[in-house]
Order: sequence, then C-alpha cells, then structure tokens
Amino acid sequence: MEYEPVIGLEVHCRINTKTKMFCRCSNDIFNEKPNSHICPICTGFPGVLPLINEDAVKKGVKMALALGCSIPDFSKMDRKSYFYPDLPKGYQISQYDLPISEKGKITITLSDGSTKDIGITRLHLEDDAGKLIHTEGGTLVDFNRSGTPLMEIVSEPDIRSIEEASAYARQLQKIVRYVDSSDANMERGQMRFDINVSIRPKGQKEFGTRSEVKNLNSFRSLEKAIDYEIKRQIELVEGGGKVVLETRGWDDEKEITTSQRSKEEAADYRYFPEPDIPPIVITKEMIEEIKKEIPELADKKVDRYKSELGLSPQDANQLAGNSALAGYFEKAFEISGDAKKTSNWLLSELLGLLKSDGLTIAESKLSAKNLGKLVKLIVDGTITGKIAKDIFGEVYAGDLDPEKLVEEKGLKVMEDAGELEKICQEVMDRNPNIVADFKGGKEKAIGGLVGQVMGATKGTANPKAVNDILRKLLV
Ligand SMILES: [Zn+2]
Repeated sequence: MEYEPVIGLEVHCRINTKTKMFCRCSNDIFNEKPNSHICPICTGFPGVLPLINEDAVKKGVKMALALGCSIPDFSKMDRKSYFYPDLPKGYQISQYDLPISEKGKITITLSDGSTKDIGITRLHLEDDAGKLIHTEGGTLVDFNRSGTPLMEIVSEPDIRSIEEASAYARQLQKIVRYVDSSDANMERGQMRFDINVSIRPKGQKEFGTRSEVKNLNSFRSLEKAIDYEIKRQIELVEGGGKVVLETRGWDDEKEITTSQRSKEEAADYRYFPEPDIPPIVITKEMIEEIKKEIPELADKKVDRYKSELGLSPQDANQLAGNSALAGYFEKAFEISGDAKKTSNWLLSELLGLLKSDGLTIAESKLSAKNLGKLVKLIVDGTITGKIAKDIFGEVYAGDLDPEKLVEEKGLKVMEDAGELEKICQEVMDRNPNIVADFKGGKEKAIGGLVGQVMGATKGTANPKAVNDILRKLLV
C-alpha cells in the first residue's frame, strides 16, 4: 500500500529583545557564565510580580502580521503547569485559548518551481525554561535561559513531504530575520522545531494517529527525524501494529526517535489565566504603527531584483535570502548605479574575503558605501576591472575610499592616446620576434604585446584601446 505523511510543525523562536519576557535580566545569554543573568522573577521565587515586556509583544505581533495573521484586540497569558527541574515556577507562562494572533500562511517554493501555501494556525507568546547540564559529577541547572521570550508558530497539518517541511522551516527563518523579531540562529538555540507526524493510506481523508518529536535544533535533524518517523510508522502499520499518540525524543547521533512519554493533552497542563499579568489589548492604531515597520520581504525582493534590476534568479535569491546581504547590496547599488556589477563584486569578491576571514556580511570591514564607490569607478570607466581587483584587498582591509586611493596612486585609466601609442611602439620595438609571429599569421601573439603594455602602464591602460592601437601599428 502507498502511504502519505501528514506533518505539522511547531517552531519556537527566541524573540530578540534586550531583556527577558517578564523581568529586566539581559536576554543576551549566549556563552554567558551559567546563572549570571537571573533574578527572583525569572528563577520563580514565590511572591514576585512579572511585568510583560512590551517590545516582545510588538515583535511577536510584527512577525504575526508578516505571516498574514489576524491580531485579535484582546488576548491573555495563561499558566501551563508541569514539573521539570529547570522550571522552578512549576509552570510556563504561555497563551492557551486567546493567543495574540491566528490564521496566517507561509508560501513555500519547491524544487520543481511550484509553490504551496502552508497554513499557520497561530503565533503565540511564552517564556522559556532553564537548561539542565549533565556532567559526570551530576546534573547542573543554568537559569540564564529561564524567562527568555519565545514566540511559538504553529502550522496547520498541511505539510506532505520532507521537502515541504524543510522549505517551510527555512522560509519561516528567513521571514523572522527580515522582520527582525528573532535572530533565529540555531547553533545558539534561538530556533527549535517540534514535529507532528502521522501517515495514512493515499486517498484516505482521515488523519492517522500522530507522534510528536520535540526539540530538533537544526534543519538536518528536522529532515532526518521526519524521515525516520515516516519509515517507522509505515513499518509498524504494515507489521500489523498501531501508531500510538506519544511524545518521542530525537537521538542526533543514532539518528532515531525513541518513545519518551504518552502525549499530554491540554487538561494535563491545567491551563488557567495568569493572574499576575493583565490582558493584552492591541489597538488598531498599534497594528498600523507596527505594519509600517515591516520591510519588503524576501519573496518580493527576489521578484523586484529580477524584473527591475535584471539580476539572474540565482543572484536575486542569494542576495534576498539574507536581509543583511540585501541591505548591503541595496546601499552599494544606490551609489554604483549598476546592479549586475555590484551584485558580482559583492557575491564573489567581497563574500570570498569575508569567508576567509570568518566574518558575516554584517561584520564586514568594507562598508557598502565604499564597495559602491569602487564599482562606480569601473562603471564610469575611471579605472579598469584589473586595477579594481588589484586594489580590492587594500580597500577591503582598511575600508578605504577607493576614489581617494585611485587618485593618490595614479591608477586612473590612461586617457592620453598619444602617450599610449608611444608605449605601444616601444613594446613593439623591444619584441621584434612577437611582431614577426603576428605578421606571420599568429593571431594570438598580440596577447604578449598587450600584456607588456598593460605592465608598462601598471594596468591603467584600457585593454581594448591597447589592442586597437597595436593592431593599427602592426599593419
Ligand atoms: Zn530575571
């Protein structure tokens, strides 16, 4: 029998606010000393009063709007009770029946070029738990992560393949970075996936029983875990068994899922309204203000780069795929006026140097302004492409103004045709053999002369002009 998988994703993104969800501790916890960013509120002391972080609410709403969700004017926080050693409050503050947003979608593009809409059930806010660190001597707990702000984005069970799940997760990461609501850096634990997977015979309408796999922290483990679950469930059903509703864990080394516990239902969590936090009221005016802050998203950029700027689909996708790269490109292009050349210099030359220095575009030594100026010098014929390449390392390392550097070093294209002709004649006089070869029919021999003239002019001659002059003199 042929089976079809039905997949839903829950994605947690750490909201990139300065402080945590309900206290003023720093939210910048990566690589910090354990328990160095904690206070009585985020470590759950009795009697403390949490205060909601307005910025976290706004960033959540911003992402929800970018996903096309509607924002109800009234929502509230709820306590979700469960016991775990890294959760000193004994409950997580989340949102149950009245989340800050609902009903949106993400459009994904698949490898065959087709597109598909994946429904978003809701985006809600919650706080994160601490972290257990298992050592040889015992288990330690680090509360730095406790109380950091999260948004959870729940998809409809619309996903039907590993490829769709992966495209959805990547598209979500792109959007959340564009709207700057999360850095969504998986190596830093800022984005995690829970998956719900079931299978059903092809053609059947009813969903099968699903299993949930929690806490996947890379695209690779997301794809591998779905693959494993689909195969496991098919094998189980084919062998006469039944899939049970359960929560499973992912073993990244063995690349298998293992049963952890039967799946909790909402009643198990004893949800009830958080009594210490007033309801969240979001007015139409607030929504309009937040909407204004949403930038042009990646898909629109790709279309614009292709249709208006004439870039190749590949370059357009690469540039727009990273909001920092797109921003850099747009600034440089504004100065250079040539999209194609700017894109080439950025994607090959600059990214090449950044890669060897282990830097991201946001950390680039060279400013977009000076890259734009360099490209402009080539575009308007002030310098040759060869000179630009020669000085690029210097311009990059010191973020130098290429106009000044070219002026100081005298690297402008040699415009004095008489002077250039004189140099050409001298090179010919010094190389009677090459001249003879050319005259004898060896068309390619002229390259040797051009090379010497370029050398004599330190690359400032226009190679085409040199070629023309030599051909004229060689007749
Ligand atoms: Zn705190």
